[in-house]
Amino acid sequence: TKQSRTILVTGGAGFIGSHFIHRWHAHYPHDHILNVDKLGYASNLDYVKGLSPGSYTFLHADLADKEKIHNLLVRYEPDHIFHFAAESHVDQSIKSPEAFVSSNINGTFHLLEAVRHLWTIQNRLHEARFVHISTDEVYGSLRLDEPAFIEESLIKPNSPYSASKAASDHLVRAYHKTYGLQTLTTRCSNNFGPHQHQEKLIPTIIHRAIHHQPIPIYGEGKQIRDWLYVLDHCEAINLVFNKGRAGEVYNLGASNEWANLQLTSYICDQLNEIKPSKKLKDYKELITFTDDRAGHDFRYGMDASKAASELNWKPRYSFKEAMKTTIDWYLAKYEGEREIDS
Ligand code: NAD
Repeated sequence: TKQSRTILVTGGAGFIGSHFIHRWHAHYPHDHILNVDKLGYASNLDYVKGLSPGSYTFLHADLADKEKIHNLLVRYEPDHIFHFAAESHVDQSIKSPEAFVSSNINGTFHLLEAVRHLWTIQNRLHEARFVHISTDEVYGSLRLDEPAFIEESLIKPNSPYSASKAASDHLVRAYHKTYGLQTLTTRCSNNFGPHQHQEKLIPTIIHRAIHHQPIPIYGEGKQIRDWLYVLDHCEAINLVFNKGRAGEVYNLGASNEWANLQLTSYICDQLNEIKPSKKLKDYKELITFTDDRAGHDFRYGMDASKAASELNWKPRYSFKEAMKTTIDWYLAKYEGEREIDS
C-alpha cells in the first residue's frame, strides 16, 4: 500500500487550486490534503466539497499573517507544498495594488520562511518539494512577430499584479539557490474552465450575454491570449512535481492564441447555438468597446517545449469540448442564481 503524504495547497478555495485538489485526490486518494485559504472574494468552499474528512482539511488563514502561517506549518507538518494563493485580477491590481504586494510578495515570503524553518528542523530541506504556481504575465508583452516566451526570456512585468508575481518568483528562486529548498516554478498562460470568478473574461461574457447586458471589450479587442484548459494545467503541475528538476522553471501553454474579440465572438456563437436569445438575433450585438486597460499587455504566448521534452506534457483536452463544458457550467450556475433572485 502507498504511504500517505500530507500535501499543503494554498489558495485551494479559488479557481485553479480547487480543481487541483480534486485532481490530486483522484490521483492519490491516500494523501491528506491541507487547504490554506484566506477566503477572499474569489473563493468558494463549495468548489472543494465532497472530500472525506480523513483526506482533506480546510485551514482558514491569510499568508500575510506570519505567526499564524508559521504555527500552522509546525502543527500540520506538510510533506510538500503547492502554492496557488495570490490576488489574481489585473484590473483589481490597477485599482488597489497594496493587497497584491501583501498577498503575493509578503505572503509568499512568509510561506517560504515558515517552510524553510520546518523542513530544516525536520532535516527534509533537500527532499520536500515546493511547487510555485506563476504566470506568463511576468514576461511582459509580445509583439505579433516575436516568438513565444521561453524560460530564459527577460522578466518584464507591466502591471502591479504581474510585478508582484515576478517578485514572488524571484524569492522562490533565491530560496533554492541560497537555502537549497527544492522549488519548482510553473509559468502558465490564461486558464479557462468552471469555478472562475465572474470578474474574469469568459465568465463575464457568458454572464452579460444571458442577462442581455453589454459585453465590455477593452480597446479594439485585439489583445492576444493563449488559452489552456484548467485540467491540463493541473496535470502539468502533477508532472512538474513528479518529474521536474528542482530549481527549474517550466512554461506551460497550449499554443492556442486568440484575440479577445475573436474569443468573445466564438463564445457568443456557441451561446447562439446552445441557448438562443429570445430578444436578440445574435449575442454579438451586445459587444461594446471600452477604453483600453492602462498598461494593457498586447500579447502573451508561451513556448512549452521544455515541459514537453522533460516531462512529456502536452495539453490533452480539445479546446472545443473543454469550452463547451465550461459554457454549460456557467450557464447552469447563472441560471440557478436567477431563479434564486426572482
Ligand atoms: P483565484 O483568485 O481564483 O484564487 C486565488 C485564491 O487564493 C483565492 O481563494 C484567495 O482567497 C486565495 N488567496 C489570495 N491571497 C491569499 C492570502 N494572502 N492568503 C491565503 N489565501 C489567499 O486565482 P486563480 O486563477 O485560481 O489563480 C491561482 C494561481 O495561479 C495564482 O497564483 C495565479 O497567479 C496563477 N495563475 C493563474 C492563471 C489564470 O489564468 N487564472 C494563469 C497562470 C497563473
